[in-house]
Amino acid sequence: MAVETADPGPGERSFDPEDWDELRRLGHRAIDDAIDYLAQVRERPAWQPVPQATKALLEGEVPRGPTDVEAVYDLVREHVLPYPTNNIHPRFWSWVGGTGTPTQLIADLVISAMNSASLGFDETASTYVELQLLDWLKQMLGFDENASGLLVSGGSMANLVGLAVARTHTAPYDVRERGVDSAQHPRLVFYASTETHSSVRKGVELLGLGSESLRLVEVDEEFRIDVRALSARIRADREAGLKPACIVANVGTVNTAAIDPLDELADIAEREALWLHADGAFGACAALSAQSKDLVAGMERADSLAFDLHKWMYVQYDCGCVLVRGDRPHRDTFSVTPAYLRSFARGLASGPRNFSEYGVQLSRSFKALRAWMALKTEGTDRFGEQIEQNIRQARYLSGRVDAEPLLERLAPTPLNIVNFRFLSDALDAAALDDLNAEILQRLHERGIAAPSSTQLPGGLSIRVAICNHRSRREDFDALIDGVIRIGRELTAGS
Ligand SMILES: *Cc1c(COP(=O)(O)O)cnc(C)c1O
Repeated sequence: MAVETADPGPGERSFDPEDWDELRRLGHRAIDDAIDYLAQVRERPAWQPVPQATKALLEGEVPRGPTDVEAVYDLVREHVLPYPTNNIHPRFWSWVGGTGTPTQLIADLVISAMNSASLGFDETASTYVELQLLDWLKQMLGFDENASGLLVSGGSMANLVGLAVARTHTAPYDVRERGVDSAQHPRLVFYASTETHSSVRKGVELLGLGSESLRLVEVDEEFRIDVRALSARIRADREAGLKPACIVANVGTVNTAAIDPLDELADIAEREALWLHADGAFGACAALSAQSKDLVAGMERADSLAFDLHKWMYVQYDCGCVLVRGDRPHRDTFSVTPAYLRSFARGLASGPRNFSEYGVQLSRSFKALRAWMALKTEGTDRFGEQIEQNIRQARYLSGRVDAEPLLERLAPTPLNIVNFRFLSDALDAAALDDLNAEILQRLHERGIAAPSSTQLPGGLSIRVAICNHRSRREDFDALIDGVIRIGRELTAGS
């Protein structure tokens, strides 16, 4: 009877709204707010502190009962939206923060509406979007077209996956079954420069190899791995009865964007039968620029390549990627196929690729759509030009630093990261570090600009990493002016 089917039964409810049009109106408002927010980002400070009222609100009680969604949204609008990391701002250059692009707002709506689990063996459009994106990425970076690939949370996870494949592939025993067995087998040794990102050490530790198995090889004055020292180290380890297993090549170090001599590392890996993993978190994207792609030539010879889309490909957080030459080594490292994940020839579970056989995660967001829409909307040529613009801006900023007697550049600028500090004759090394740390914090507090810092042989550096499509030359001029003005204030009378 019609009456019965219309009645969901006693007490049965769902989270769907009673009035969809109310949600629709709120949705339109939220989209308007988000677009205004991005359109006006330049008018806001580069950073602002989180006010006490907001922190107090965000320490409140667990909400046992409901609150109207519009009221909740108003709280978000007032207390959350204004206080981002602010990597969307044109004068944000901290760590390696990417800006994202406005059109991906639309992708996010679709992603959330579909709420796909992106398993890959589910026969859904999301699977094919991700597979096409992976193919595009391989072509864009000139990587093996038969490589397997996976979207992951970011460079850290991409490094972990690549290093895991290296471990499984190079261990002369079944490391998946036996675990790392250095009692009965030679210890597997990994090599990377001292400038290598901390996620590589984390990965090596998580894989049970122990950070003692990660040899950190010294760098030259341009922060690139010393290839002769590396060769000597490999030889010494072999002579000591250990098993050299993997070289990690930096395609853009986190401190200074130094690019290791990639072809030489690939030659050594080939000669010594080692796995070559490349950490190209941001630097890999230089391959998209017609003018700068030669800087990262040789990267395509790596056995596995980790890179981020959320850094220098301007994709919204979070989105990283790992590519692995062949397909077998990757799958052999992660494949577990329990009965409840069986795939079929037809029906929902007949998708072409079980992504869980290629990484740690099973359920994943449909993040592929953001990148896919961004690439489709802009075209890859445009991405290459935008990346090249950032490289030219880094050169411009370096030139401005070099021309200022009160500033000192602390590292070469091979790509998109500039390191410099404010100088004062009256101060010793420790005092100069303190001075520059103070300048950095005041730059943030006054909302002038948001670079980060690092410690280099020359001292504490104000570090400017440019993965920002909104930055203009005038923004770098504002940074230089700000640093000099604050530096002068702080050293007046000394
Ligand atoms: C940022 C970065 C990582 C880590 O990437 P996440 O996306 O932050 O996890 C690894 N290596 C390098 C060189 C990086 O710059």
